[in-house]
Amino acid sequence: MKPEHTIKDLSDLLNALDGQPFGGYQTLLSKRFCHKNYQIRFLHIQGSPGAFPASTCRLSMGKTDLGIPEACLTNPFRTMAAADYLVRAFGKGVAAHARQNRGAQGSGSFQPVSLPPQVLERNLVRFNKTHVQILFHLSLPGSHENRILGRQAAAMFEKELTGILRSLREAVARTGRLKHQCEVVEDMLSLQNRLSSYGLMAFVGDGALLPRSSGISQAPLKERAIAFHAPDKLAVEVRLPNAGRIRGMGVRPGINLIIGSGFHGKSTLLNALASAIYPHIPGDGRERVVTHPEAVFICAEQGRAVTGLDISGFINHLPGGMDPTLFSTKNASGSTSEAAAIIEAVLAGAKFLLMDEDSSSTNFLIKDQNLRRLIPEDTITPLFDRVEELYKEFGVSTLMVVGGSSEYLGVSTRVIAMHNYLPEDMTDQARQLSLPAPKKPDRPLIIADRRRVLKDNFNPAYVAARLKKTIPVRIKPLRHQEKVLEYGNERLDLTRLAALVDPLQVTALGFALLLARDRVQNKLLSPSELAAALHRLIETQGLDILSPPETAPLFFACLRRLELSGAINRLRSLKVSLSENRPEAS
Ligand code: ADP
Ligand code: MG
Repeated sequence: MKPEHTIKDLSDLLNALDGQPFGGYQTLLSKRFCHKNYQIRFLHIQGSPGAFPASTCRLSMGKTDLGIPEACLTNPFRTMAAADYLVRAFGKGVAAHARQNRGAQGSGSFQPVSLPPQVLERNLVRFNKTHVQILFHLSLPGSHENRILGRQAAAMFEKELTGILRSLREAVARTGRLKHQCEVVEDMLSLQNRLSSYGLMAFVGDGALLPRSSGISQAPLKERAIAFHAPDKLAVEVRLPNAGRIRGMGVRPGINLIIGSGFHGKSTLLNALASAIYPHIPGDGRERVVTHPEAVFICAEQGRAVTGLDISGFINHLPGGMDPTLFSTKNASGSTSEAAAIIEAVLAGAKFLLMDEDSSSTNFLIKDQNLRRLIPEDTITPLFDRVEELYKEFGVSTLMVVGGSSEYLGVSTRVIAMHNYLPEDMTDQARQLSLPAPKKPDRPLIIADRRRVLKDNFNPAYVAARLKKTIPVRIKPLRHQEKVLEYGNERLDLTRLAALVDPLQVTALGFALLLARDRVQNKLLSPSELAAALHRLIETQGLDILSPPETAPLFFACLRRLELSGAINRLRSLKVSLSENRPEAS
């Protein structure tokens, strides 16, 4: 097949456009430029130098030509890991070869996505029989006068892209590294699928390096990190497809506690487990930490909105005659927000609750014996009184960090003590204490949802009052606050959804809500059912289903039903009706 245009044509075209109005770049749209080793196609062209998102290109290369070993693509786990490897390599190529900011307002830059250390399904790379396609954003260079900087643009393709592709080739040529990433990811996901056959909710391999380099970084702590080592009593052996038999600490179903003095690594272990619902890249330190895929980090979230949720399992009375079976607020308290978080999570299929005393509401966790005597009214049924019920009746296990109160020792099935960053089993010692028993609540815990999400939800239009116009769809993460989503006129704060680790997941969430408006919303589903329906759509059709048909493909990373439900439930504008009967929880 004769190529439509050559790369030389692209340079000539860009040079010829130099100095013309910025809109002249549109001539590149949908054109394909072929080089003997690769092809470039422009899928979206930005309207102005500072536009966000900028332009979108698709790079296509022969798989064998690029040198990707077939062994890296033999199953979906490996393919996902290989895709992740290529996106990272592309980003490193940009860092090494692109001058960036060649034009006004940051234009004239490649815009690689910055990836977290977790390896997720993303829609940036696609493999077919013969080729690999990689999507990337770049901002075409423009001047302050809104003119095309054609020579700069030509340099970006002639020099810089060539350098980036060389880096990509070199990264792939390090087949050992690429294969290692595929094997590490396959090992993790394969164990995650088989956790229940080992009777485990989580696993931390010996040698894992859990601490991070700082409180605001996901990079591993490089110096003085103490490697994890399981004590014999907590040790299990698991078999991984590539690494073979490995030893580590097993966390079993039930009520697990992590105790210990301050600064001994309790939260670090818990956070590593929260992150290990996903695989990590080699070198992260948490490659062999594996957590149940339906684990969720639960914390208090003062100030969040709750709409019509039945929290009566935990909250018995609210002031002013407010009905806890129909709890609505724009400003939840610590205890009501944490009750809501647990109920929403269980409704959305959570099987493992991860909690830290530090980020929980104390009066939601416990009411100590003296206070029970002093104030006998049960305005709150603390989690302490329900945690066994959650496990026995709902099959929901818990792992909780406690440092300051002994109450939970009395209901725990396993006690892990962290001492100098290493775990010890203290289950037997804890049994010997005389500990308070929980108070049996008057009523059994009911986790059910009568709420039905109304049609009139998820309006993404933004009324720009100053400009006196309405923008039909505004969906984007807030600048510098990647876990706050601007959805129409609403700011959806997803900061407390710990499982959102990649900004592309936040974008995906936003467009999933848009899809909810267009495709699923009039079926009168509860928030968790709606989340499940959206999740099924993404699972069966792929992440591209989230891109509205009229736009170029947007960049997304995969989501769980739990986060979809978490986002719907946190919408301040959520409107629901109530169904007549109280159906069983799904
Ligand atoms: P805790 O929750 O028990 O108070 P943290 O988990 O917050 O303690 O850890 C306290 C500090 O120790 C943090 O700065 C953390 O990065 C560091 N740390 C945790 N685990 C390790 C480890 N295995 N090796 C070295 N430092 C660690
Ligand atoms: Mg802590």
